[in-house]
Amino acid sequence: MSEDKRKVIIIGSGPAGYTAAIYTARAQLAPLVFAGPEPGGQLTMTTEIENFPGFAEGIDGQKLMNEMRQQAERFDAQVEYKTVSKVDFSSRPFRVFVEDEEFRSDAVIISSGASAKMLGLPGEKALVGRGVSTCATCDGFFFQGQELLMVGGGDSAMEEAIFLTKFASKVTIVHRRDELRASKIMQERAFKNEKIEFIWDSVIEKIHDPEAGKVTGATLRNLKTDERTEVSCGGIFVAIGHKPNTDIFKGQIELDENGYIKTFEKTQTSVPGVFAAGDCVDHVYRQAITAAGMGCQAAIDTERYLEELAHQG
Ligand code: NAP
Repeated sequence: MSEDKRKVIIIGSGPAGYTAAIYTARAQLAPLVFAGPEPGGQLTMTTEIENFPGFAEGIDGQKLMNEMRQQAERFDAQVEYKTVSKVDFSSRPFRVFVEDEEFRSDAVIISSGASAKMLGLPGEKALVGRGVSTCATCDGFFFQGQELLMVGGGDSAMEEAIFLTKFASKVTIVHRRDELRASKIMQERAFKNEKIEFIWDSVIEKIHDPEAGKVTGATLRNLKTDERTEVSCGGIFVAIGHKPNTDIFKGQIELDENGYIKTFEKTQTSVPGVFAAGDCVDHVYRQAITAAGMGCQAAIDTERYLEELAHQG
């Protein structure tokens, strides 16, 4: 066991985690935050954020998350760049493990977020970092002058396709239906961009060429006609939604059929004293501002829970 018992441990460092850290730190609960495998969360992989209130000109995702971390640290939140590998919520104090290191706390706030989904095609995983990517901001720069495919019809696919046109000679959006899910404003921006083309009602059936160790093209299949088309490209970007990062909580707290954490009384999970906020709970709104709002709620719920616990002695 590495340390004395804490009042609260926060698992995850996106907008939900850092907001929970700011509030619990200001309530003098000295939170310990485990930043996880992607410190700062998904916003660190995005470009300009235009819809987070308070930034009239927009703000870079990495910058926003750095500001949130510094704000939490200003009030003495302790941020550790470690990934929680196991939890035990079966008895109190709760136990949180980072490999062999054990940490204990009276309350836990889970804000572990969600991760990008992949297509699940043969060779796809092996080609991540070699032409297949789920992060245009991270990898776009490597595709100067190349033709790219973008899979997905949501806001992420539009935003990332537009970003990729800074580098690519052409970006073709492959969408499985003939209508986009993206908001009107993002659709219009994508339609207006001369470097963006669309292939409708289609999916990628095969990625070429895992044997060559790089992306050279793809076989597309039209879902309405079953017609197959070969296209050549230097990279394939995938923006088809997310999966909650909740595997380590299976069997410890209740999850829904898609793996999202179920909350009952406000932000409380099925275990009193364990709270959850952000994209690991919310599959409807999934915005930075809603995650931050839930992080605040979880912090206040935690504070009240700990007060109650103290009264019980
Ligand atoms: P999303 O809205 O769930 O869209 C996912 C897209 O991927 C859908 O078009 C879906 O097709 C497609 N898809 C899903 N599984 C697929 C598969 N196996 N093969 C091929 N296509 C597949 O996800 P998102 O775009 O990541 O957006 C998530 C949330 O963040 C949304 O609320 C969005 O508004 C928000 N967001 C906002 C902004 C912004 O405002 N600038 C930017 C990014 C994200 P169907 O349409 O057929 O289901």
